[in-house]
Amino acid sequence: MRTPQMGDTPLLASKKCPNCQQWSAWQHNPEDRCEHCGELLDPRAQQSAVERAELENQKTSSLILMEIKPEDKGVTRFFKTIVRGGQLAFAAILSFIVWVVTVVAG
Ligand SMILES: [Zn+2]
Repeated sequence: MRTPQMGDTPLLASKKCPNCQQWSAWQHNPEDRCEHCGELLDPRAQQSAVERAELENQKTSSLILMEIKPEDKGVTRFFKTIVRGGQLAFAAILSFIVWVVTVVAG
């Protein structure tokens, strides 16, 4: 096992297990588990990641799409289509950001 050096990526870090006090490989993932006892290395990170995901899910699902009624005609229908397209794009961007945050911050 080589010794950690300056310039090493944080991906090669290690973390002390809160449960058994042994050092384990730590990839900054909330799901990382202890090599010795199998406990989560960072239970609080896991918890906050779950809470963050739930929060984002709520935001996304509470996004109400503009309704286009059959009786809407011409300009009204045109603008509603644009607004709805914007809402869909916003939802897509939002879920992309959530995905990036989840992957990068993990
Ligand atoms: Zn452990």
